[in-house]
Amino acid sequence: MSDDANHEQREKISEPIKREVRQRCGFGCVVCGLAIIEYAHIEPYAVVREHDADNLTLLCPNHHTQFDKHMLPKDYILAKNAAPKCLDAGFHTLPLHAVPGQYPEFFLGTNKWTRSSQPLNVSGYPIITVESPAEAGGPYLISGKFFNSRGLLSAEIVRNEWFGRADEWDVLQEGNRITIRDAAGSISLRLQFRPGEGISVERLNMFVNGDRIEADEAGKVRVSSSSGFEFTLSGNTFDEVPGVATGYLGHISEQTFEHQQTPASIRQAPDFTPTNRILLHWKPPTV
Ligand SMILES: [Zn+2]
Repeated sequence: MSDDANHEQREKISEPIKREVRQRCGFGCVVCGLAIIEYAHIEPYAVVREHDADNLTLLCPNHHTQFDKHMLPKDYILAKNAAPKCLDAGFHTLPLHAVPGQYPEFFLGTNKWTRSSQPLNVSGYPIITVESPAEAGGPYLISGKFFNSRGLLSAEIVRNEWFGRADEWDVLQEGNRITIRDAAGSISLRLQFRPGEGISVERLNMFVNGDRIEADEAGKVRVSSSSGFEFTLSGNTFDEVPGVATGYLGHISEQTFEHQQTPASIRQAPDFTPTNRILLHWKPPTV
């Protein structure tokens, strides 16, 4: 019951303590696993007058309110705190709101994909896919897999629902953004959910299948393959690139790349380097 104290007189909970609580609880509500979380004092702050990590737990706004209103007993919260839902399940969750009938856009750094069913595909491995609505008038379904900088699967989107790994180093959900750090100071993913538009990957350091893809603070995307091949991308718009040949990363092979490079597929590519000739020599590794 955390909200019965005078908020004005409280000190803020320090960031290291918040992170310790997040890590201990698996980055979601200890009751339901939702990644929209608040820091709740198990013994009321008005009694303890301090922010001790051992006395803090993670609750979603719903369960936090129920706890504050004495609708959930302390023993129940203590038990959930001792065996958090996310650690049991292995992940925290977050539903993504999608606007019915509207094709979601995908942003990676300063690059944008519209009407593309596989906007991001590394080495033939689909990182992001968009499916047509399951029923007429329903929302398009976004799915995706995000690996961290060490190549571990860190989060998945399964048909508009986010699942984030409970044993990642840190996951911070703020507003409509979620940031994953796989070590101190190492952001592997910062993703913004944009209801009505789509999703935006603002920062990325992902290692998958021998390839690394990074998006820096300036929105520049750099791809480096295990074969030593590199290129960068910024400010591009890819519109209606068909099917599995979508995007610039996956399926950049002799068979498919010419098809991708048609003017209709890539409307503008001011920073598409190196040259097509070099790209044509890159063979994606076998998935
Ligand atoms: Zn909850």
